[in-house]
Amino acid sequence: MKFENMNIEKSVLGSLNDIGFEEPTRIQYESIPIIKKGYDVIGQSETGSGKTAAFGVPLVEKVVKGGKIQALVLAPTRELARQIASDLKKFSRFKKLHIQTVYGGVSIRPQISGLRKAEIVVGTPGRILDHMRRGTMNTSNVKIFVLDEADEMIDMGFIEDIETIEKNIPKNRQTLMFSATMSDSLIRIRDSFTKNAKKIKTKIKVSDDILKQYYRDVNQKTKFSLLVHLIKQEKPGLSIIFCNTRRTVDAVSRNLKDNNVNATALHGGLSQARREKVMEDFHKGITRVLVATDVAARGLDIKNVTHIFNYDIPKDPENYANRIGRTARAGKSGKAISLLSRDDHGSFTRIIKTFSYDIEKMKITNFKVLPFKKYQPNRNRNFRSRRPFRKRFRGKSRRRW
Ligand code: ADP
Ligand code: MG
Repeated sequence: MKFENMNIEKSVLGSLNDIGFEEPTRIQYESIPIIKKGYDVIGQSETGSGKTAAFGVPLVEKVVKGGKIQALVLAPTRELARQIASDLKKFSRFKKLHIQTVYGGVSIRPQISGLRKAEIVVGTPGRILDHMRRGTMNTSNVKIFVLDEADEMIDMGFIEDIETIEKNIPKNRQTLMFSATMSDSLIRIRDSFTKNAKKIKTKIKVSDDILKQYYRDVNQKTKFSLLVHLIKQEKPGLSIIFCNTRRTVDAVSRNLKDNNVNATALHGGLSQARREKVMEDFHKGITRVLVATDVAARGLDIKNVTHIFNYDIPKDPENYANRIGRTARAGKSGKAISLLSRDDHGSFTRIIKTFSYDIEKMKITNFKVLPFKKYQPNRNRNFRSRRPFRKRFRGKSRRRW
């Protein structure tokens, strides 16, 4: 099957040709015609299988130039919101649609003026709600509502924000939800946000021969040494090391630098300018090792990521699936290696049970034991000093990356 035979608007087809998409992936092939017909869709497919275009292509087809905000796309992180917006820009290149990103940590003024001309808005729930409350975003003409990685937005504690947003957009719209993982937490909004939704579920696990998973038991004290050993042995292209907390991310990245590994930290405690610089350098391969919290677990599509290391094991099995899904995307292969100390075993067992994963024990010969310095949490200017706006009017605690 080719995109040419899918009855896609000429200008959009032209953009797909330009970016080199010829054949639709399975989820695209199944979703695009149904979305074009106007159905609500709940789509699930493996990481890296092209879900963005599955909703993005019919979305840009339906949106008309100069017709106010017609599509609203929600994502759990700022990085993902930027990436989706950038993809939608590519798909709509010849239609010249105005796509506005809306997320916190940056000045609100340019967003306000951008929103006046926008036909598509992509953002994170907190700042979108902020604009709705300020009356700076006219949602009266929204016809398509997309929730990318909806399960993550709910698990993060965004459910009330999302419900408030949903109450303030037209009822007779089309709703699309896409994710590689769908947890039970989704049921509440799935049933209240959609009408007669078509469920489209293709393969949800990346094949074992493309994404190879390994684990290794290790003493907490020598975990860092093993990580350094593995980086030197595996010689990754780009790699992401996931940790469960900001503090561990900072400590691991600093210790890696002490050991001549050019690593950069990414987590939600950094300023937005810093987050953007880190992502840019990683995309360009200027830094080849990213040490991150789960802020980077969802949706990000970075070419040449060959290795994922789990320095800690995530509590949510879904986040494990999404972390490892940052590699082995779009048919490329990749490796995921989890370092297990005593505290990690409970979570790891749950992950294996949830997804029936085949995870191989990694054989490792001796490795050099290195010191691991305890650094004080970073307080430099790259750190956010202002409390985020949404915290000021709601006390509920959220998961923090
Ligand atoms: P998902 O959301 O399912 O994790 P993405 O939408 O991020 O996946 O797409 C993963 C990668 O596959 C991206 O680099 C994207 O450019 C590429 N891709 C998507 N659809 C196609 C296609 N039809 N042909 C070729 N590459 C594609
Ligand atoms: Mg995605």
